[in-house]
Amino acid sequence: MIKLDEKTPNIETNSPAQEQLIDSFDRIIDYLRISVTDRCNFRCVYCMPEAGAPVAPSAEILTNDEIQRLVAIAVNLGMTKIRITGGEPLLRKGLVELVESISSHERIKDLSLTTNGYLLGALAERLARAGLHRVNVSLDTLKHDRFKRIARRGELKEVLEGIDAAEKAGLSPLKINCVVMRGYNEDEVLDFVRLTLDRRIDVRFIELMPINWSQNDEMYPLQGAPTAAPSDGEPFGSKGSSITLYANSQLATFNQLFHDSRIKSGGGMLDASAMKSSFVATDEMRTSIEATFGELLPAIIRANGPVRSYRVAGAVGTVGFISQISNDMCINCNRLRLTADGQLRPCLMADGEVDLRSAMRTGATDSEIEEMIRITVKHKPKEHRLEDGIEPTGRNMSQLGG
Ligand code: SAM
Ligand code: SF4
Repeated sequence: MIKLDEKTPNIETNSPAQEQLIDSFDRIIDYLRISVTDRCNFRCVYCMPEAGAPVAPSAEILTNDEIQRLVAIAVNLGMTKIRITGGEPLLRKGLVELVESISSHERIKDLSLTTNGYLLGALAERLARAGLHRVNVSLDTLKHDRFKRIARRGELKEVLEGIDAAEKAGLSPLKINCVVMRGYNEDEVLDFVRLTLDRRIDVRFIELMPINWSQNDEMYPLQGAPTAAPSDGEPFGSKGSSITLYANSQLATFNQLFHDSRIKSGGGMLDASAMKSSFVATDEMRTSIEATFGELLPAIIRANGPVRSYRVAGAVGTVGFISQISNDMCINCNRLRLTADGQLRPCLMADGEVDLRSAMRTGATDSEIEEMIRITVKHKPKEHRLEDGIEPTGRNMSQLGG
């Protein structure tokens, strides 16, 4: 049994950094999610086709040195929280060394990683020693046969062993991310809540998100988004970088990103219609939890960003909801995303990214990269526009770094 609060990072306040990134809507942007690979050993039905999603050529994936350089720049700009993700990040060679170098930055107060858990049993101890603070393990079912239907690779047993290894290694508080889908696992919500009763586990129920649903045949490289020259005279395009104008809810061009989610063959990944019929809203999950466990009490947990967190009375762990669709929390969004191939995205749910890889590889200086990050922040959209039919296209979740 792990001790509470041991190694738990204090991330309630920002350390004095030289600068803070503040977007056009007064949000402090202090959280960088770094995808370290677009490869994965699972094939979750909501994320990837059976045959796998297209991946970037290895030469386009950022090296450890390039990621370390960007982290140093981001930290200098006031980033204090880093999450490593993918694809499946534990597949990346040199991951432990990368974690070690990132954790050496004193200003980073929260260093976490999201994983499918399959390789965690082998790596948890080394990652903890390298300075990783905590992990989120994605797990959608506690039943072996369903695991095969949802993840379509690997074994539930390995993931459960990975969770135990992470707890043992002190990667705490451990979070379990569970995407709830009708017809797949919606009847297991209560079983997941039971995990929180006597274990220091934070279970977070995630609404299914319409990320590139079944547009898998043309997902890479990015297609379909309009490219545009900067209108405000800022230094995009310098040092060989290119920019795809990202969707800023204040820009007229945003509407050009309208995406018609016609159903295409999904190669085994849920298509738009299946995703829609599998969707379970947070309210429905919450009602069924409260019918069994009584009223959920608000819980304050650190680093919960766009998550609403609660606790069953007397429970050790917490229950959270990530309701990007039914009740979006964009106004609390504090993050940027760096894809494995070096594109900086201000929003998961809107197309548009800035090519930091090309900039770095053609000799951009640190201050030029800093400026590209500042401008990305400035153009961060206020909120997603899913309700207007505007959906992210071009990449699926494993290529975005969910
Ligand atoms: N492979 C790692 C994992 O599964 O934890 C990290 C990358 S995965 C893309 C990150 C998270 O995105 C997982 O928790 C996964 O369940 C979630 N995810 C992927 N596609 C999703 C979708 N369409 N809707 C909601 N969540 C999704
Ligand atoms: Fe599943 Fe994560 Fe792999 Fe996507 S990236 S298929 S969510 S394990």
